[in-house]
Amino acid sequence: EQNRRKLLDLLKLPGNDECADCRRKDPDWASYNIGVFLCKECAGLHRTLGSHISKVRSVHLDNWEDSQIVTLETMGNRNALLKYEAHVPPSYRRPLHDDVTVIKEQWVRAKYEREEFIYPDRQVYEHGSMEGWLYKRGKEDGRFYPRRFVLREGEACLKYYVKESHKEPKATIHISELNAVFCPDKIGNKHGLHLSYVKEGSTRNLFVYSEDGKTIVDWYNALRSVKLHHLQVAFPGAKETELVQHLTRDFLKEGWLWKSGPRTTDQHRRRWFTLDDRKFMYLEDPLDAYPKGEIFLGYHGEGYTVRPGALPGFKEQPFSFTVVTPTRKFVLASETEKDRSEWITLLSKVMERPLNPHDSNMSINLVRKRPTLTSSLQILKVR
Ligand SMILES: [Zn+2]
Repeated sequence: EQNRRKLLDLLKLPGNDECADCRRKDPDWASYNIGVFLCKECAGLHRTLGSHISKVRSVHLDNWEDSQIVTLETMGNRNALLKYEAHVPPSYRRPLHDDVTVIKEQWVRAKYEREEFIYPDRQVYEHGSMEGWLYKRGKEDGRFYPRRFVLREGEACLKYYVKESHKEPKATIHISELNAVFCPDKIGNKHGLHLSYVKEGSTRNLFVYSEDGKTIVDWYNALRSVKLHHLQVAFPGAKETELVQHLTRDFLKEGWLWKSGPRTTDQHRRRWFTLDDRKFMYLEDPLDAYPKGEIFLGYHGEGYTVRPGALPGFKEQPFSFTVVTPTRKFVLASETEKDRSEWITLLSKVMERPLNPHDSNMSINLVRKRPTLTSSLQILKVR
């Protein structure tokens, strides 16, 4: 009991008040050979490393011997950070507790098992190029096939090939157009990664996974690393901490909604919606290669709003809401009140933010899809 009291005192020290790996507040587990305090979930991840790497115990539930306290006293989360995170590349995605499991799991393995941030020569994602095979969902039949992916920092692009023997890639994606988001539930694989880019004014979705968690997280961090270097060249005066915010964008929200057509007589159809910053996309199937529609969300001072309820004349569904843009109003409906209020809150937040130059560029690219506007807007195309 004296040891437990010591542990509770240690938990009050700066750094020990949050999980060493995911920063969740009030950790109540510890690895006594590494000397860090952890949340319950990260303690579970430590357990999968094996006791030769990490020996975990609960602060409250387990008995503690004198010898098990020693490393926690001398190391603690602050010193462990200096040791195990000495060389984390600025573009590396450091997980928070609400991130998907594969990112957290590989973070823990990278830190303590592979010691990648003690020995930077182990960071394969920092080499500026990467090649390998990933399973990619076929556009036509929805099955996953092995495809060869090549990332080259010098060319600032990601390519993939259908056959090993092919000289010409199936697609060449400029790194500045590319986004990557882990979507394990949607893809149906715990290592599922959603890649998207803009192709001729439309968003193109690619769904990939690797059987091995390290491989997919290495790809993710390699893309981020190449993107950072590309941005550093493009914006030489910008601060690294600022650029790091723009490497990948997690979606603000995804889910099913009912969507009405433009006329009051139109039926409501169930669509999968993705809120990707200022882009509000809807698809027939969550894994479609292209969305059916993409709504650009501008600044609310310029005629963009969202409000609860349907428009007059439209069928009133229990949890309907309306997204208003200067050119069209979209009548949508959620399946629960909670879901509707989440959508409204997030959509409003996006619209309350004034446009930055990147946003304006995207709006032009999306608007260009409408053929009548193509010629007049072509001259405004930034790239
Ligand atoms: Zn944690």
